[in-house]
Amino acid sequence: MGKILFWVLVIIGGLFLSRMLTHYAARKRQEKEQPKQVPKSTQGSAEEMVRCKRCNIHLPRSEAVYDKEQTWCSKEHAKLGVKS
Ligand SMILES: [Zn+2]
Repeated sequence: MGKILFWVLVIIGGLFLSRMLTHYAARKRQEKEQPKQVPKSTQGSAEEMVRCKRCNIHLPRSEAVYDKEQTWCSKEHAKLGVKS
């Protein structure tokens, strides 16, 4: 009986250890890849997109018009407001 318990513990321990190692390896790999994945916002290649509240068109944040804490595609739409 004690022998079975011993082997059960060995198997559980082995599984736990391999799981921890896999997790650690994946984490290490992720840390390595991260600098490439995160683009610098100043480069503007992956600029955040915003939506016009009137016509629902998507446009880069730098091209959007801001008014009343909302984003619009143009000054006309900012003036017209949300479509009713
Ligand atoms: Zn619009």
